[in-house]
Amino acid sequence: MAGGRADGGGDHGLVPAHAALFGGLPLDEYKFLVHVGERWHGVAHEASSSLIAKRSALQDEDDHLLSLCSHELFHLWNVKRIVPAAFVPYDYLHETPTRLLWAIEGITSYYGDLALVRAGLWDETRWLEHLREEIETLENAPGRHHLSLAQASFDGWLQEPAQMHDEPNARVPFHNKGEIVAALLDLTIRSATEKSLDDVMRSIWRESRELQEDAIERAVANVAGAELARDFFARYVDGTEPLPYEELLERAAVAFDSASGERLALGAKLKTIDGLLMIENVTGDGSAMEAGLLPGDELIAIDGARTTSDDDVERVFESLSEGEAVPAVIARAGVVQIRAMLPRRDPHVSITLRVGAGLRPSHMREAWLRRDE
Ligand SMILES: [Zn+2]
Repeated sequence: MAGGRADGGGDHGLVPAHAALFGGLPLDEYKFLVHVGERWHGVAHEASSSLIAKRSALQDEDDHLLSLCSHELFHLWNVKRIVPAAFVPYDYLHETPTRLLWAIEGITSYYGDLALVRAGLWDETRWLEHLREEIETLENAPGRHHLSLAQASFDGWLQEPAQMHDEPNARVPFHNKGEIVAALLDLTIRSATEKSLDDVMRSIWRESRELQEDAIERAVANVAGAELARDFFARYVDGTEPLPYEELLERAAVAFDSASGERLALGAKLKTIDGLLMIENVTGDGSAMEAGLLPGDELIAIDGARTTSDDDVERVFESLSEGEAVPAVIARAGVVQIRAMLPRRDPHVSITLRVGAGLRPSHMREAWLRRDE
């Protein structure tokens, strides 16, 4: 594990950082059972976790293993000992839906990575780069406009990617959005009160380890006030309002910037099968979707130019003008069709987060991303 020791030794390091949040470890011995395999994976147990480390990525992503260990360790509390009531007793024969999956996984991911900062294994720059990547993933998931975090959690049993219709546009990754919402909830509490999400987690640990469906909101209400809790949850957990990145990160003196639509693009993911250029999926609001193209269509030509690769498609779009419809030739189920395509701007969103240069020092950021002493 390059970058630092997981145990840290003494009062510092990853395990003490987690233990400090809850006032100690609830057991004497915990084992990380690490296997090396073809992918990343982790499963939390009562007193251990089973981890799969992706062999080919171990050299390049050595700190992902730390992040994974930290995530699974936080589950020692959040899900193994702080448990949704829907899981008690756990029914292994039937689906057990709960609107709390985002809290189980998202809050765990948030603290998993924040503990790396508190333990001194990640610096502020590494943390903000991680947060930036998570935000960029979410902002490129069109499903966030339609499906709330709580509903995506409840639908977790239905969100099997391979079985979802129009998965790229429909799915809301509740791990990912849950982690971001946990971070924004923490910043909301920190900017309105002297408390933080730490106090919320501690109050749950002390008072109510079996979680009713509204338990997180109630715990936030107890720590930071009912109005703050209702407003935040109505908008960002139960609702689909755009997340207030700019406003909240600004309070921690982190500059947020979002850019998209810098060029015209097809707005579709393509793949080549047997030499044919096929549409794998179309992105909401992109040129392809507006022209009625569907996954499984073969893309033959755009504006009279034969398209056999991503590069061909990019070249054609460089020559097109916004607002001027051109013909797109496709084949669907053995029938060639010509469709009018109005070139649109690339819906892909790029995010930047920036600290330093020109920004004032922030006590809130220091407290948020403090290193345990
Ligand atoms: Zn997990």
